[in-house]
Amino acid sequence: MKIVFFGPPGSGKGTQAKMISEKINILHLSTGEILRQKLKDGDQLSLKLNEIMSSGNLVSDDLINEIISEKLLSDYCTNGFILDGYPRTLSQSEFLIFFLKNNNFNIDIIFDFKIDFKIVEERILLRSQQEKRTDDDLNVIKTRLYKYIHETLPVSKFFSNKFKSNYFAIDASKEISQIQKDLMKIIKKSREIGEI
Ligand code: AMP
Repeated sequence: MKIVFFGPPGSGKGTQAKMISEKINILHLSTGEILRQKLKDGDQLSLKLNEIMSSGNLVSDDLINEIISEKLLSDYCTNGFILDGYPRTLSQSEFLIFFLKNNNFNIDIIFDFKIDFKIVEERILLRSQQEKRTDDDLNVIKTRLYKYIHETLPVSKFFSNKFKSNYFAIDASKEISQIQKDLMKIIKKSREIGEI
């Protein structure tokens, strides 16, 4: 099963994606998480990445596309995968669609987390205190939301048109457990009608 999660930073999509991946045993590919792991290398690339990420900007499409295509071709993906935080730009989405077509992969479900930006700001500030992430202060949050609105929203709109019957807008203001139920219901239904 192949699932794509869209949603602004702080919408809870990472939490939900992790829960789903464990529940149905598919790989959770969070580009943010992969990049945060890379920061620990302490090499030239990690210094550059740190600069970009802690300012709330997006890292280069080429680098992200390379990371994702390498992961998608790995054996760990044979059961399926969740893309969380990718694609985030139109260029990434073109790359992904081309890549999927070339490798005979179909996207089964697209979850698009919808939530008020004010709630998101509050959530991210709380998370910055808990997780001590350098990209969670208020100015950086504003940049990240700006990037989401201007770069990623057009991508999710494009996906909602291209994959109409597989696209689901999710109310991300609900409780974690309720959102989880909403997602699982859609996954089960898709399985029943044989789309997956
Ligand atoms: P996230 O944890 O998904 O919010 O990602 C944290 C940061 O990693 C983002 O603010 C970007 O700097 C970077 N990042 C994650 N995914 C991508 C992507 N698909 N394209 C570009 N930058 C990304």
